[in-house]
This record gives sequence, C-alpha cells and structure tokens, in this order.
Amino acid sequence: MKLALRIDDIGASSKRFEVYSKVPGGNILFLKCLPAFKAWGPYEELSAGQWEGIFSILRRFGAKLTVSVTAGWVEKDGQLIPFIQKFPSQAEAIKKALDEGLVEIANHGLTHCVIGRHLPRLFSSNRTFHREFWSWLEEDVHYEHIERAQNILQDYFQVKVTTLVPPGNVFCDATVKAAEKFGINLINCYTETKTIGSVRIVGEENVFAFHDRELIIDGIGWLEGRLAYFEKKNIEYCFVKEL
Ligand SMILES: [Zn+2]
Repeated sequence: MKLALRIDDIGASSKRFEVYSKVPGGNILFLKCLPAFKAWGPYEELSAGQWEGIFSILRRFGAKLTVSVTAGWVEKDGQLIPFIQKFPSQAEAIKKALDEGLVEIANHGLTHCVIGRHLPRLFSSNRTFHREFWSWLEEDVHYEHIERAQNILQDYFQVKVTTLVPPGNVFCDATVKAAEKFGINLINCYTETKTIGSVRIVGEENVFAFHDRELIIDGIGWLEGRLAYFEKKNIEYCFVKEL
C-alpha cells in the first residue's frame, strides 16, 4: 500500500492565536488558556534540533515526509513575516532535508487565517477564522494568497511547489483556479477525490496526516512509534505529489 506522510501547520501562527475550548463555558476569558480547557493552541514551533530528530527517524525507517508550510507568520497586529525570516534555522534544516530527497514542500496557505479576525476572542471560539480559503472572501484574496505563498516558498527552497494543502480542509472553486494559475496541480486534504481542470483533488485515503502539535506535545518519539507500527504493514512511502 502506498502511503504519504504529511505534517501540517509548519510556520502557521494559528498555533499562537487559535485558542478555543471544547468544554462548555471554557471559552470564558482566560479559562481557555488553562491546560484542562485548551483544545488547540498555544504551542511552540518545532525547533531546528527537533527537525533533525524527525529526519533521522525518517531515514531509519526509509520514509519520506510532505511538509505543509504556511508561508507567512501573522503577527498580532496583522503584519506578515515570511517563514524564512521568522524561522531561519528551521527553514535551513528543512532545505537540507529537501536536497537530500527526504521531504516535499507543500503550500499550506499564506496566513492559515483571516487576517484581522485571527486574535482570540473574549467569550467565543475563533476557530472559523483560522481557516484561509473561505468562499465568502473575494476571489482576488485566493489569487493573492496562493501567489505570495508560492513565491515565498519557491524562492527560498528553489523547487517547484505543486501541492496545496488547504488549511482546515476549507477551499472553493476560486482556490482551485488560483492554485492552477500558480503552478499547483494537486490539492490534498480531507475531501472527495476528483479532478477540476488540470488540478487533481485527492482525499486522504493514502495519507497519514498529522500536525506539528502532536510532536510538540508528545515528543518526536510519537512519530517513531507510528513508523514502527507502519513497518509491520506492507507500506511503500511516497510524497503527496506522488499519489
Ligand atoms: Zn493547518
């Protein structure tokens, strides 16, 4: 069986600002920041050292990984900082692994959120606004975000980025058209598999998708455990772009 490993949310500031609670009443003021109430963020970005650990696990198991990078980190005031400037040592570690053939870089949006509506709210969840490609946004926004994200990633990594992983499985026709225009030929997320124009939309049947969050919370041993499990199955690893 073909299997693509995919890690999402690299460089996404949603890990800082997507703060909500699944517990009734848990969204009230500071309660959502306490561990028992916290459902998503905040958590730290993976360090360069942790990335090295991930790469040695991949080598050991003969695996490879599609890394979904959000090209811009959104600050509190809405300012956008390119991934490469915000996390230079992580970017460098990932680039080395890319040159080694261990990783594929995928586009995980420019912002992962709707800028201006991304900050935690006092009494409710801000989860909706930590998705990027809503159909209720102007079509231009889809084009601008895809183009800028592609430029940031391709300029630094010096490869063609052909896979888009829409944040939170949210995308629409405008996203697909914009993706096609800027060199993307595959969209991968939890969705129905089909083709629109020259873009293949591929569901997650052959994808093991996870977030940096699992590795931050459980440690990179979490990945090792998963790969040890897959080793007992008849798995042939591929990148998402090879599905
Ligand atoms: Zn995401």
